[in-house]
Amino acid sequence: MNAPGPVGPLYGGVEAGGTKFVCAIGRGADDISNIVEIPTNDPVTTIREAIQFFRESRDTGHNLSAIGIGAFGPIELNMDAWNYGYITTTPKRGWQNIDIHGEFSRGLGLPIIIDTDVNAAAIGELRWGAARDLDHFLYVTVGTGIGVGAVIGGVLLSGAHHPEMGHMLVPVSPDELSGFEGVCSFHGTCVEGLASGAAIVKRWGCMLSEFPADHPAWRLEAEYLAMFIANLTFTLQPQRILLGGGVMNARLLSMVREYLHYRVAGYRATLTEIEAVNQYVILPELRGRAGVLGAIELANQAYAKDPLRGI
Ligand code: ZN
Repeated sequence: MNAPGPVGPLYGGVEAGGTKFVCAIGRGADDISNIVEIPTNDPVTTIREAIQFFRESRDTGHNLSAIGIGAFGPIELNMDAWNYGYITTTPKRGWQNIDIHGEFSRGLGLPIIIDTDVNAAAIGELRWGAARDLDHFLYVTVGTGIGVGAVIGGVLLSGAHHPEMGHMLVPVSPDELSGFEGVCSFHGTCVEGLASGAAIVKRWGCMLSEFPADHPAWRLEAEYLAMFIANLTFTLQPQRILLGGGVMNARLLSMVREYLHYRVAGYRATLTEIEAVNQYVILPELRGRAGVLGAIELANQAYAKDPLRGI
């Protein structure tokens, strides 16, 4: 690990996920000095280990200007709220109402910029990945949960709270197992409740990749994801959708495209041909690093605008 030279501010990035925290130091996709993965245990232990990583990096000459965090949520992102930077109503045990922004801020004495994990990943793909040439796109992750980061008009889409598109309600398929109630602790059979990795494991007892190609698990998953993406398409009309996460693979992607083609049903002129759908829904380029690189870019953008923001 080499200490970086004097070529602009150096940032820390944290992809704070439900199973691991990926922490890195760098300036971009081709300039990462240190990177580490920390298992997500209880918040005290996990955050302490992440802070320790940055302290040790600082002790070895990495002079950080700011830290970006892309975290699982929901997160309060209103800077005027009393609980700004808290992970709030997450179903993840032990992580409700955790002041993740404050812990990093107090632990490191640096500006901390926080956003959702999917928003960070979207920004990473916008800067260095599969969305470099786009103004309007969605980053969709299908992993343990389902989340979407939307860039519309070149900026992250947000309302009064950050979007929660993974909790979109879709019709339960006639092919669904009878009695399956979904896994979302809030809504049962929202998209996350029906099509996340957790839903697949609960419904079938294992992951898709363990089934033969003709098993109905594949069809059901593709159908739910296609309905979801059709709804996202009609609502936001992105130029492209990056579909990633641990559940995705080449077979499932191909099936999702076919079902999406069927569901859009020619309504969007640019998606009437399956070849166009194949270009429309693609895998992200940065793969497992989109979140942490995006977190670095979030820090970079905020620091360039206002070096004191987020302290
Ligand atoms: Zn839900």
